[in-house]
Amino acid sequence: MDECKKFSRREVIKIAALAATVPLVGASIGTAQAQKATKAAMQYRDTPNGKQECDNCMQYVPGKSPTANGQCKVVEGSINPKGWCIAYAAKT
Ligand code: SF4
Repeated sequence: MDECKKFSRREVIKIAALAATVPLVGASIGTAQAQKATKAAMQYRDTPNGKQECDNCMQYVPGKSPTANGQCKVVEGSINPKGWCIAYAAKT
């Protein structure tokens, strides 16, 4: 029991504050892991694979017009609506 008395109130607050930051560190690591894949890693190309193309993929975020390049939720960079990659997933 005497060991409990070794911590001052200030020290206890510091420890509690430090413990509170641990989830934040974990969250930032999670964010880093959520970074997009490179086009090369996903074998991205600017042409469709049959009827499969970014425009009808659930990961695609359209650009300003139907023909303008957009973004992808999982692949980095500018994405051609007529492009394709191995992460293609048809919209449902
Ligand atoms: S996952 Fe691949 S196919 Fe789908 S939008 Fe992204 S780049 Fe295009």
